[in-house]
Amino acid sequence: MKYARAKLAVLALSALFATQTWAIGGFNLDLNKIISAGKNLGEASKDVSEPEEISIGEGMASVLLGAAPLAKNEALQRYVNQVGRYLTLQTERPDLPWYFGVLDSNSVNAFATPGGHIFVTSGLLRKMRSEAELAGVLSHEIAHVLRKHHLAAMKKAGGMGFLADVASIAVEQKGGGGYGKELSKNLISGMKEVMVRGLDKGDEYEADRMGIVIATRSGYDPYGLPAVLQTLEGLSGSSDVSLLFSTHPSPDSRLDTLSGLMQSNFDHYQGQSVSDRFRHLVPNGAKN
Ligand SMILES: [Zn+2]
Repeated sequence: MKYARAKLAVLALSALFATQTWAIGGFNLDLNKIISAGKNLGEASKDVSEPEEISIGEGMASVLLGAAPLAKNEALQRYVNQVGRYLTLQTERPDLPWYFGVLDSNSVNAFATPGGHIFVTSGLLRKMRSEAELAGVLSHEIAHVLRKHHLAAMKKAGGMGFLADVASIAVEQKGGGGYGKELSKNLISGMKEVMVRGLDKGDEYEADRMGIVIATRSGYDPYGLPAVLQTLEGLSGSSDVSLLFSTHPSPDSRLDTLSGLMQSNFDHYQGQSVSDRFRHLVPNGAKN
């Protein structure tokens, strides 16, 4: 399967990049102090093991890839993975099999699936102006995975049947069937329902707050995500953003919700850029 090959190549590359991390002084933001108590965390995770979570996410990723193929630009796919994997190293779940993909679609959107599969459309990438904006969007999606928002929403949609369906994945795995092979019809319809209906507004606001923390911790300008939200606001009414708008609170209300947090915690980091890190940490380095 084409997707599996692409994924393997990406994982091999990501492993390479993972060894090239560096510590950043001064960015000791405490995620837990800034985010809310995390009402969904634990609720879904008590019942679903991490391998099951990853399996569900792989199934959901193939549903997404059935709707839009990966963009045929290896350098771009590699780059988005490099940025995304670096961001995940600043989180409490760095060891998930994170995978980032650019979907070839004019629709302006980004998606996350349980277990660490994250997709951004080429339509959304074309609206961005900087790596900080990309990092802001990817961090928002990473936060959904960390908080298991989709898993909780699927559990809610599937009711009691959800856990039985998840258990069937485990049975299949024990029988040597491997993860992510065939998900039940119920699970797939639950996923589709969540994709079409979207998550709770509260989960979206939480992912915005956490996303800004993750991007800032990684050395990016915290205003990357708010800048994208401003761009989205300007696209209101376009058919390219209709799914995004129907599944998320309006960009305006997201910006409003973020404004208090931004002013009190992040102004200090505004304008920081990963590319300036060397200068920051080696101020006496050679001048060109
Ligand atoms: Zn979201």
